[in-house]
Amino acid sequence: MNVQPKASHYINGRFVEDEGGRALDVLYPATGEVIAKLHAATPNIVELALEAARTAQGSWARMKPVERARILRRASDLLRERNAELSRLETLDTGKPLQETLVADAASAADALEFFAGAVQSFNGELVDLGGSFGYTRREALGVCVGIGAWNYPIQIAAWKSAPALAMGNAFVFKPSENTPLTALALAEIYTEAGLPDGLFNVVQGFGDVGAALVSHPVTAKVSVTGSVPTGKKVMGVAGSHMKHATMELGGKSPIIVFDDADLENAIGGAMLGNFYSSGQICSNGTRVFVQRALHDRFVERLVERTKTIRMGDPLDENVQMGPLVNGAQHAKVMEYIEAGKAEGATLVVGGNAPSMQGFDNGFFVEPTVFTGVTDQMRIAREEIFGPVMSVLSFDSEDEVIARANDTEFGLAAGVFTRDLPRAHRVIAELQAGTCWINAYNLTPVELPFGGYKASGIGRENGTAVLGHYSQLKSVYVETGDVDSPY
Ligand code: NAD
Repeated sequence: MNVQPKASHYINGRFVEDEGGRALDVLYPATGEVIAKLHAATPNIVELALEAARTAQGSWARMKPVERARILRRASDLLRERNAELSRLETLDTGKPLQETLVADAASAADALEFFAGAVQSFNGELVDLGGSFGYTRREALGVCVGIGAWNYPIQIAAWKSAPALAMGNAFVFKPSENTPLTALALAEIYTEAGLPDGLFNVVQGFGDVGAALVSHPVTAKVSVTGSVPTGKKVMGVAGSHMKHATMELGGKSPIIVFDDADLENAIGGAMLGNFYSSGQICSNGTRVFVQRALHDRFVERLVERTKTIRMGDPLDENVQMGPLVNGAQHAKVMEYIEAGKAEGATLVVGGNAPSMQGFDNGFFVEPTVFTGVTDQMRIAREEIFGPVMSVLSFDSEDEVIARANDTEFGLAAGVFTRDLPRAHRVIAELQAGTCWINAYNLTPVELPFGGYKASGIGRENGTAVLGHYSQLKSVYVETGDVDSPY
């Protein structure tokens, strides 16, 4: 399999290579084979990308929002037309099954472009009556914004960040995860084809050092990172020391609370989606599943039955529901957590193995895994695993489960399953999490803001909220009388 792009980087509307950069091999996670060979950005590539963005940004910001929107909408249409080929590329890059990428990746990117094309046209400042004189506010672009991506949703992350940034009149430089560099390049070509002027969306490849160089560069006005909490802390520190705007979309250890009056099959479906989709590599996953004691045993019995039916295998087979993890390091990390769960005394009720499948002997597969008898202090209940490992914990009362759910440094997401809607709203109001679901889990429509409390994040993506995070507010006082000067 070979999906070699024309070059590693995309700057000023064209592909650019610099073979002086560190080698960056792209693996197909299902087989471990190298499917593309790229180079990380050199300092020269970083300069070229930021300079292209800086040069292009001013005239883009002066265009009418409706004109910028027209280009974004065209790009959205192209994403939808090419969904099949983009989904295949995303599957090869990430290992996620085609069954998922066909509906959740380029399609979600297209939604973002379409939504922000519309939203920006009514995202205006306000007129303030000052009694004769008046004031008004303008929402102005920040300038050059940098996006840094994780490897679980590569094209979605690139679009969730660049669409609102571009809509507001910013220029963008995106650094994909070093594990999944391919689909951002495809997005860049689509933007150009849709009519985006050169220099407004650039892609540079690289490891953490390239991300750091982009963040600390004087041209960069803002950075938005999707990644782990330790990376977020580093980037936030650098951004703070240069007084730059920053948005952090980081990790989690989110709770799903299942009360004993919940619809059992829906609650189990939500818990499975919140632990096994994308092989568990989702930041908002509800990896601590608290089940009220009276329902616990029935919940576990059906959960195990349903988990055993998950079809794992060739990600390019549309009947397959679960693929491998992204790489060998992540595979080793997840297997280590499974061993830690056993060693700490949790009960492994299903999964736990790294299966070897014919034709995929070198793939990074881990079975969907469920532990019961998990207690709050175990590592598997406290640390983000980022793999298909669910911990089931039991609880008795509402107050108890709220306190335990909140007892974590993270605060990305939370879910509540119950038929008692007053209770659902009461509990959600007490949970320290930025993104919550009632009787659902992990749905992230672009219309609704997404992001975390506590260590899980700062700022928001999506909704009209994100347009505020990609703009700065200018206040203008307009005097309609004489200047009242004492001098
Ligand atoms: P990571 O933190 O290892 O890397 C994220 C990105 O940051 C990569 O592109 C990496 O090259 C870059 N980076 C690393 N060090 C840097 C530095 N010092 N300066 C600038 N950039 C640097 O994360 P990952 O392993 O790619 O992704 C998994 C993590 O991402 C998990 O913790 C997951 O929860 C989180 N995540 C969060 C969201 C969200 O929206 N909240 C979404 C997806 C993933």
